[in-house]
Amino acid sequence: MKYKVLFFLLLFFGSLQAQQTQTERLRNHLYLLASDSLEGRMAGSNGGLKARQYLLKQYQAMGLEPYRDKYIHTFKASNQAMILGAGINNELANIVMVIPGNDPELKEEYIVLGAHYDHVGVKNGKIHNGADDNASGSSALVEIARQIYAHRDQLKRTVIIAAFDAEEEGLFGSKALVNYMDANGDIKKVKLMMSIDMVGWLSTGGALSLEGSSTLKDVDNFLHQLGEKKGITIRTKSFENSIMTATDTEPFAKAGCPTLAVTTGLKSPYHKPEDDADLIDYDGLNLICNYIAELTLGLAADNPPLVSSQRLAAKHQNHLRPFEIGLSLGFGRAGFRYPGSAFYGKTGLEGHIGITTRLNYKRWSLQAEALYNIERMPKPNLDGTVSDVFGNYSKETHSSLFVPVSLLWNVTASGLFYLGAGANYRLLLNHTDIYHSNLWGFHYTFGFKLGQLKISVMKIFQLTPYYIDNTKPKTKSLQGGITLTYML
Ligand SMILES: [Zn+2]
Repeated sequence: MKYKVLFFLLLFFGSLQAQQTQTERLRNHLYLLASDSLEGRMAGSNGGLKARQYLLKQYQAMGLEPYRDKYIHTFKASNQAMILGAGINNELANIVMVIPGNDPELKEEYIVLGAHYDHVGVKNGKIHNGADDNASGSSALVEIARQIYAHRDQLKRTVIIAAFDAEEEGLFGSKALVNYMDANGDIKKVKLMMSIDMVGWLSTGGALSLEGSSTLKDVDNFLHQLGEKKGITIRTKSFENSIMTATDTEPFAKAGCPTLAVTTGLKSPYHKPEDDADLIDYDGLNLICNYIAELTLGLAADNPPLVSSQRLAAKHQNHLRPFEIGLSLGFGRAGFRYPGSAFYGKTGLEGHIGITTRLNYKRWSLQAEALYNIERMPKPNLDGTVSDVFGNYSKETHSSLFVPVSLLWNVTASGLFYLGAGANYRLLLNHTDIYHSNLWGFHYTFGFKLGQLKISVMKIFQLTPYYIDNTKPKTKSLQGGITLTYML
């Protein structure tokens, strides 16, 4: 009797095994990839190789075809010996598969789905399992591929599935695939690349982030509606703007491809030994797989249409747009100076608002701004001082139109840092009975770019004396301020 029960129990669990749910499969993949025996899956390590072999077996078992006749695409990272050091025992390699589209024309267009399977290995004697980063994305990609493959008859476009190696050391796997696709004339066919990186913490963040939705035309509504349909909150971000983080979208974006970075955000113990499999939200991961699979099937069937907006995140641009325009707002200090006199002016406050435009050529920019400026400055005395013998001084307010034209040198090709100098014109709008209304000067400036925002500092020296009456002291003004410009 006892044995009979055991037999039925075995039969029962055996059949469960055969009809595992996607959530159960995800849990299995993830616990395996993030287990201590893989020692943190560092690129080139034996643990990294085990992860690759496990994933390859999964993809081959479901019947996926290799991309360009090989599943394993080995590559060398630039200065890999220096980066990976003694930890490297094996070649670095991506696993790349293809699910061909069926439309005679659209099958020549690709959607690439990628997830890196490497992590940072063992640090200070502690295994970093990288359950969220990125056993979660690697596991999800297997199940997403399974769903897409099951519905491959619906595909018009071709889907490429890529498990990347050596992301953590500098996106080497995705860079290698971009180079390989470029050499084979395939990179121009990539209409969308999605990187699934850190997707294990849905319930904590409350939403799945899709960063880069503005690299495609008119998909935002669809992305949100599909989320409602699949029971998952979607947060879209127009562009990947963080300069602190990067994922495998980057080499594709720099090659001009529209990209979406798919993530539940930096919620897990990021790059810490505590990033373990028991903390992962498996139900959330299950929802994410369903969502990305259906999104990919939709876009691959051209429903909704998949069209590049021709726009890229600022950090992904490897050259400057020929023309830029932005809205500027800033503040600073303003005062008088008295050339040839021992007196220095006290300073007051200034604020400005206006428009900034730029013409860019290679690393050079010609910048012209039109700013409405208000200054509240100490009023100068006839002897060239600003205060009475007791140190008291009165102030007056100047309003003006200020037009600085600057020649800028961009230190990086994407214009991340810049410095320059130029000439400026100021049209004084009040007190013109005693002061010149046309004032000329020069300035120097430097600044940097943070996503769509430019932050710059300018120091301005006025050359035209203030007073019309030239018997009065040669009073000139001096300004310095900071300007925030939102580039459109
Ligand atoms: Zn990652």
